[in-house]
Amino acid sequence: MVRLNEIRENEIAVDAPAPTDAGLVFIGRIHTPWTSRLECPRQGRADGPMCTVEVFDPWTEALDGVEAFERLEILYWLHESRRDLVKQSPANDGTVRGTFALRTPVRPNPIGTSVATFVSRDGNRLLVRGMDCLDGTPLLDLKPDRTLFTPIAPPQKGDFEVGG
Ligand code: SAM
Repeated sequence: MVRLNEIRENEIAVDAPAPTDAGLVFIGRIHTPWTSRLECPRQGRADGPMCTVEVFDPWTEALDGVEAFERLEILYWLHESRRDLVKQSPANDGTVRGTFALRTPVRPNPIGTSVATFVSRDGNRLLVRGMDCLDGTPLLDLKPDRTLFTPIAPPQKGDFEVGG
């Protein structure tokens, strides 16, 4: 069940430490059809609506080559989330789980990830499907889906032996 900012039965909020500046930069924003958290899907789907990932200057050139990948991992900042819950009740039924056992947007560092299907690129704008965030959600990063890469062979005996 989607929440706004209310605390539910048996949930636990803590005095979250003040944020420290990790030097994160919002590199763009994501345009979606959803303006309310109550309307957003809980997870994106490959057959979901077309969304636009807009990349700000000076990062446009960093997109060169993305066309080669059918899927991209998109990382974004769930900017409307509260950040102080350690126990949460996703179904709002009194049963709770730890925040790190959930994909809830409510987390100390509200980073969301989606594997999006790449559709096309026009300059600094990518058309994708598979998002689940609000219109205007800040973009943190994007990269090719890790499953498109062949794993590097596991280390063999002797790989790291020096002078052996
Ligand atoms: N796919 C991401 C993940 O697994 O990391 C996010 C999943 S989270 C369950 C998706 C929900 O976050 C949406 O249904 C919506 O209620 C909420 N949400 C979306 N955009 C948000 C934003 N910018 N700020 C706060 N909450 C947001």
